[in-house]
Amino acid sequence: MLDFDTALSRLLLAARVSSGVDVLPLSQANGRVLSHDLVSQVSVPSFDNSAMDGYALNIGDSWPDSFKLVQRIAAGNVGQALNSGEAARIFTGAPIPAGANVVVMQENCRTEDGQVYIAAPLELGSNIRLRGEDIAAGSVILPAGTRLSPAAIGLVASIGVAELTVKQRLRVALLSTGDELVEPGQPLGAGQIYNSNRYALTALLDDCLITDLGIVPDDAELTRDILQTAAKQHDVLITSGGVSVGEEDHVKGAVELLGHLDLWKIAIKPGKPFAYGRIGDCDFIGLPGNPVSSLVTFLLLVRPFLLARLACLKLQPARFKLMAAFDWKKAGNRREFLRGKLNEQGHVEIYPQQGSGVLTSLVWGDGLVDIAVGETIKLGDSVQFIPFHSMR
Ligand code: AMP
Ligand code: MG
Repeated sequence: MLDFDTALSRLLLAARVSSGVDVLPLSQANGRVLSHDLVSQVSVPSFDNSAMDGYALNIGDSWPDSFKLVQRIAAGNVGQALNSGEAARIFTGAPIPAGANVVVMQENCRTEDGQVYIAAPLELGSNIRLRGEDIAAGSVILPAGTRLSPAAIGLVASIGVAELTVKQRLRVALLSTGDELVEPGQPLGAGQIYNSNRYALTALLDDCLITDLGIVPDDAELTRDILQTAAKQHDVLITSGGVSVGEEDHVKGAVELLGHLDLWKIAIKPGKPFAYGRIGDCDFIGLPGNPVSSLVTFLLLVRPFLLARLACLKLQPARFKLMAAFDWKKAGNRREFLRGKLNEQGHVEIYPQQGSGVLTSLVWGDGLVDIAVGETIKLGDSVQFIPFHSMR
């Protein structure tokens, strides 16, 4: 069995960067991966402007007792130059008039007979947002490989760019294996279970162009035929189940016949029967059938792999250290990823049932606690935590 880190690095090494791009309006670019560096042609803000509703002042050599109110500048308007000792009523976002060297918030000002009185002098430059303080013209605001977040899309809009060139979505075929599987909405016969992986994986793959091939029965020939056809039309083929060593597991054999397997079996829990290979030009990923194993291996291995295929800069989820609010007494011979949740103290608890079929643990949890091979944990020890929100 391969250890987790080796498996992950081999997987990332095997990830060939796809070349296709799409040009999309900003409104459709969320979650997509930028294909080139984005350079700003403009400065943001493009003019010095007020950070407050208040008064812009021209302070000469020293602070006068009061300032003469000479104009009013709302956002979207441009005022006149202020002379020494003059004030302009100004609003947030309005351009700072020439000559003004400070803005005082209105709560600290009093006006009487056309004069503005200030409660206390403040540092010159206060409450003025300087031209270019967010973005300098000519700078790279987003490097190639950025996965576009809502904030990144806002940043792009702020430089006036309306379209982005992003990596094309990967074409992914999804296949569920198992004679026992029944679709939700159908009656369940004896010995049958609902196909949950299909729906959870479809949701996880929402950045991809998915072809859902449904359920393939546990049959060698059928499995082979469907994999062979799908491999010709997709970038990545993902199966769930049927990749273990049982007589009813036909996926592994089919891939070995049609192409080759590069990884199979990883020393992790949950998720041991994880497979990677290729059929022709198509990547093959065989996920375990057990729902928790399937989803955890997707998050830890497949997600970085798919992002690497798009040349994404950030492949790995965030990790941080938390204090354990649990004991873990049995040292394992596989690296273990426990479903954990933050308690009110900010310490991590674990779900009482960590079985690979207990999907509730994943819904309950905020993330995964990473337990090394041979490691035991005592209440209060520091543990590595990988939050689910950083694996979106
Ligand atoms: P397998 O890897 O095919 O031996 O499956 C391992 C376990 O996962 C068995 O208990 C299967 O019934 C279950 N399983 C396989 N595929 C799915 C699926 N799509 N949804 C839910 N459970 C599944
Ligand atoms: Mg099966």
